[in-house]
Amino acid sequence: MNTAEVILVPVLSDNYAYILHKGDQVAVIDPGQPEPLIYELDNRDLTPSVILNTHHHSDHIAGNKALLDKYGARLVAPESERARIPGINKAVKDGTIIEFADETIEVIDTPGHTSGHICYHLPQSKILFAGDLIFAMGCGRAFEGTAEELYASIEKIKALPAETEIYCGHEYTLSNAEFCLTVEPDNDELIARHKEVKQYRDNNLPTIPTTLEKEMQTNVFLRAKSAEEFADIRQKKDNF
Ligand code: ZN
Ligand code: FE
Repeated sequence: MNTAEVILVPVLSDNYAYILHKGDQVAVIDPGQPEPLIYELDNRDLTPSVILNTHHHSDHIAGNKALLDKYGARLVAPESERARIPGINKAVKDGTIIEFADETIEVIDTPGHTSGHICYHLPQSKILFAGDLIFAMGCGRAFEGTAEELYASIEKIKALPAETEIYCGHEYTLSNAEFCLTVEPDNDELIARHKEVKQYRDNNLPTIPTTLEKEMQTNVFLRAKSAEEFADIRQKKDNF
């Protein structure tokens, strides 16, 4: 069985939006800005039928309206964010299943960064759109939740298959790696990955996607063994 194609589209200063494509189905994830997406879609002759939002922050939704108007797409977003995300056509929550080509996209509630944050998981293609929950070697700030909530959300993602590809909302990888090294200076995989992402960024290349397996080896937030340890690392990162 073939897997869905993901096209990474840099938007704003350090955000990534994504085009998900399989068969004749096209989705856009977290359009923080419309123009770069319209450019990529039109270039490839793709027409999205659905837009997926992970959370209400404007760097993830500001392009919704332009894309909905231009392509007549439907907007899928968290049910609990009806008041903060205009124009929702299909409100979703934990366990909602969205059909996409010959596979499914499953919604996972992952509160903490914002109260209504969700992730989109394609179990068949082994793809996760993580929004601002997990970054390469990092995780989102607990803006609207406690560190404990964020930890619980990340634990859910850790239960997915290790080979799952993670597509996150920002290119924060190099500074995240530098922070991780302050927590685990002797982690060989982390040392090697830091060198590798430095090269990528020096050449202006994206470091995304990552995989759950790589994150388990190098992301100090996923490596925390308790909510307390996680909260302590989250606080250190806030002051890094
Ligand atoms: Zn955010
Ligand atoms: Fe963001």
